[in-house]
Amino acid sequence: MSETGLSVLVPVYNEAEVLPLFLGRIGPVLASLDMTHEIVFVDDGSSDGGGSYLAALLATHSDLKLVRLTRNFGKEAAMSAGLAYCRGAATIILDADLQDPPELIPQMLEAWRAGADVVTMRRKTRAGEPWHKRWSAHLYYRLLNRLSEVAIPPDTGDFRLLSARAVQALNLLPERSRYMKGIFAWIGFPTTEILYEREPRAAGKTKWGYSGLLALATEGITSFSTKPLRWASGAGLAVATLGLAYGVFIAAKTLIVGDAVPGYPSLIAVIAFLGGVQLITMGILGEYVGKSYLEAKQRPVFLVESVAQSRRSSGKVSSEERHRDLA
Ligand code: UDP
Ligand code: MG
Repeated sequence: MSETGLSVLVPVYNEAEVLPLFLGRIGPVLASLDMTHEIVFVDDGSSDGGGSYLAALLATHSDLKLVRLTRNFGKEAAMSAGLAYCRGAATIILDADLQDPPELIPQMLEAWRAGADVVTMRRKTRAGEPWHKRWSAHLYYRLLNRLSEVAIPPDTGDFRLLSARAVQALNLLPERSRYMKGIFAWIGFPTTEILYEREPRAAGKTKWGYSGLLALATEGITSFSTKPLRWASGAGLAVATLGLAYGVFIAAKTLIVGDAVPGYPSLIAVIAFLGGVQLITMGILGEYVGKSYLEAKQRPVFLVESVAQSRRSSGKVSSEERHRDLA
């Protein structure tokens, strides 16, 4: 069994501004728990001094672990890295920006003690977000769930509790494209959902622009479904059938009415349309080919530069673990 009761996993990328606030809020919550705990920070290649700030904390605070990655690998990889070092009987993933209120930890632990392996946190409202973001999120989750064979809960981020065996299961998954929302859903296990009010960011800036979100959305669909490929074939078939029908129509018309050669505009329209369909289809195909390429390279998802932990925390990091770069 694990030596630590609760591991709190916090991926950190350029959060220097918010880290003191974070520690100030989570400290009292952890202190009030009747179980041992550790905070596992993953420094995802911060360049704003946040990493050094965390390293300095190890000397003054107990029960901290700091996993530093060699560069910025992205939140999905940072979470995967952290999960490899969480030793708790339960692990809770929290954002550093206090959008996931630490005060909910006791409630999550309660659900875990009642038998849940996974406690997902679903936001009640998306208030504070512009209408187009809410609307696109709604449509996206609908599309994603239609496509994917595992049900991916809407309005549920990475804020969640995982039991030790759920963490173990996640650590077993070797894939490089790590769409964590999908991977979390894929492992299954008894799951409880808690509704909560998501807070605005306490300080600092979001790391997600629209292009980043679009990339994540595409990643989500292509990682968890190959149905777009089938749709592409379907679209090709439909267009080919229409083209054939149109051809027959023109031939018949020429035979009956005896037509000359008009039809330049319709010709261009058909060519442009077909070109578009072909390019879209190739794009979809390309997404999957690119994914296969990345998977085939078998590169690790992240590289760990160093692992350190504060003195008073229980359990030691072995040198083997120190040099481990998890695939
Ligand atoms: N994050 C990370 N690596 C990245 C981007 C973000 O570890 O490349 C962390 C970030 O420090 C924060 C969490 O992921 O703790 C969520 O990021 P953010 O608040 O920017 O995303 P949002 O809440 O706006 O979706
Ligand atoms: Mg945030």
